[in-house]
Amino acid sequence: MSGAKTYDVTVVGAGVFGAWTALCLARRGQRVLLLDAYGPGHSRSSSGDESRIIRMGYGADEIYTRWSQRSLVQWKELFAATRNEELFRKTGVLWLAEPENPQLRATKDVLKRNGVEFEELDGDGIVARYPQINVDGIASGIREPESGVLMARRAVTAVVAEAVRIGVEFKLAAIAEPHGNGEIESLSSTAIEGSAGERFTAKTFVFACGAWLAKLFPEILADRIFATRQSVFYFGIPGGDGRFSPPALPTWLIKNDECYGMPDLESRGLKIALDKHGERVDPDTQSRMVAPEEIAEIRRYVAYRFPALAHAPIVETRVCQYENTSNGDFLIDRHATLSNVWLAGGGSGHGFKHGPAVGEYVTGQLLDEIEPEERFLFDNKDTVQRRTVY
Ligand SMILES: Cc1cc2nc3c(=O)[nH]c(=O)nc-3n(C[C@H](O)[C@H](O)[C@H](O)COP(=O)(O)OP(=O)(O)OC[C@H]3O[C@@H](n4cnc5c(N)ncnc54)[C@H](O)[C@@H]3O)c2cc1C
Repeated sequence: MSGAKTYDVTVVGAGVFGAWTALCLARRGQRVLLLDAYGPGHSRSSSGDESRIIRMGYGADEIYTRWSQRSLVQWKELFAATRNEELFRKTGVLWLAEPENPQLRATKDVLKRNGVEFEELDGDGIVARYPQINVDGIASGIREPESGVLMARRAVTAVVAEAVRIGVEFKLAAIAEPHGNGEIESLSSTAIEGSAGERFTAKTFVFACGAWLAKLFPEILADRIFATRQSVFYFGIPGGDGRFSPPALPTWLIKNDECYGMPDLESRGLKIALDKHGERVDPDTQSRMVAPEEIAEIRRYVAYRFPALAHAPIVETRVCQYENTSNGDFLIDRHATLSNVWLAGGGSGHGFKHGPAVGEYVTGQLLDEIEPEERFLFDNKDTVQRRTVY
């Protein structure tokens, strides 16, 4: 017999959302095809950096605390089963802020309610424990000892390898973007075409295309997925100096500065990045080189908060993009007019850790087993950026 093989589900996009969706669907017996234009966790994807924070604190946005808890369990189970334990680093996560920071206060309540272990620190405690940080303006802290870092790029590869092992087919293929502002021309109710003319048939399609979602569905998403430029820096630590490695330095987020970073993992140096949104970009054309003004800004910052690194060399950089929704809530919903097409994205700078929970949720929705979560629905996505989820 000739003709394309029919799958239950074709997942387009093998970043963390698509990879976990494919794995979860296959675990439930679905025949799944997973496509990606460039490969799992590639350098231009949002999932493609070395490392991503997994933390439980989310202020009052409790759903993400619960999803993080659930996801950490699943990440660890996957890594244990595939002998990849080193892909989670329990560095601990330290939140720092000015006194009476509302997000820290709300975080403590939610962590308590959900049984997440944490330690509170006051100004003196922070100074005593972390003398390598200049705590100017900082007077309160929370440390999550069980949280840490996922080695992102390799973690996505591990998810895809496991998905393939249990039956998912992976193919390198790019779905052509629509001409103009319409729908994807090759997408019918049963098939979609790759840019080389190959045809993929399935009952259901899930588009987990990160920042590219806005390019594939411009009519509905051009004004609802805001891709922003985000630059990441690694500072070389002084030779023989253990102050910037775990356990001396955990992963940290400084709310006053909208800045976060990680200790020296795998000897790559102190990772540091600003969490504030950069300029809007196109993920295909934005420069992946950091600009001189970005270097100057981060150098000033490092000299201020980590004075011992004032003259440290920048040993690596990476330019990525956040794929923000209007407020930072994910977008996971059925397409408004194409009933067998689902959209899964809008990770908004915090989605990586939630890959397992996203995969479970999409699977539950496709199999009609769970109720939709209001805040992920398309109808709740605004066209104006007003970030509230951190
Ligand atoms: C600098 C930075 C720091 C971050 N820090 C954290 C953090 O500490 N913790 C955290 O939890 N999250 C963090 N995030 C957010 C997190 O990385 C993202 O939310 C998450 O990786 C998004 O995954 P995704 O699968 O939706 O998108 P992506 O990883 O971008 O994957 C989308 C995939 O779709 C594919 N695709 C697109 N179009 C097509 C097409 N036409 N045909 C075929 N394939 C296609 C792409 O090739 C790509 O591989 C950070 C993000 C950035 C940029």
